[in-house]
Amino acid sequence: MMTQKNGIRYSSLLTLPGVVHGYSTRALGDARIRTNTDMIVRNLTDRALPLLHAAQVHGNAVSIVDSATTGVVPLADGLVSGTDNILLEVHVADCVPMLFFDPVARVVAAVHAGWKGTLAHIAKNAVARMTESGATPKNILVSIGPHIGGCCYTVPESRAQQFLATFNTVPPVAAKENGEWHLDIGQANRFELLDAGIVPDHIDAPIVCTSCQIDAFYSFRKDSRETFGEIIGVIGLVS
Ligand SMILES: [Zn+2]
Repeated sequence: MMTQKNGIRYSSLLTLPGVVHGYSTRALGDARIRTNTDMIVRNLTDRALPLLHAAQVHGNAVSIVDSATTGVVPLADGLVSGTDNILLEVHVADCVPMLFFDPVARVVAAVHAGWKGTLAHIAKNAVARMTESGATPKNILVSIGPHIGGCCYTVPESRAQQFLATFNTVPPVAAKENGEWHLDIGQANRFELLDAGIVPDHIDAPIVCTSCQIDAFYSFRKDSRETFGEIIGVIGLVS
């Protein structure tokens, strides 16, 4: 379940002491613009904390970062941290953002899952990298943030078939409706998390479609070149 305050959406699952997290909305502007990002972060925490993000190259690599890491982490689509007082950021407009927190081991992750990264099992890689950092799958809480829903995400048949071959779920992650293949990329990632040992109750995946809810978010598919922007998901341990 998500709540909203000051233009930030929060997952009820991750609203816990010792961690800050949230997703920006359109009301706070295009997060590719530095001044907007700064404002979003100020709405999340009153402390000036370093913000790290992965280069997001539609791969499946997840990097472990610490206080020595600065700026953009190359070749990665996900970041894991067990270090206090740094923020991890993921930026999206239709792709799936995921925020992870193990409250026992105190390890967090921020992950970008486009269709390529989803097929390449980035969600499972994130759980594995968190485990290397001391986390335990059964303790990890995951928020699947705003992304394009199966309602609006039409894909070529070849891509739908790739997903059906990779994710054997009920209901299926792709289906043909009125002659078009629709892909539920959030459901594919949810399945992947369950397969990695995440407890069903520890996954917060509300139905929030960036294309249907274009007033609240940005959509690569629905926005025009003039109106397009990105939102960010942010998570960090604080002490
Ligand atoms: Zn939709």
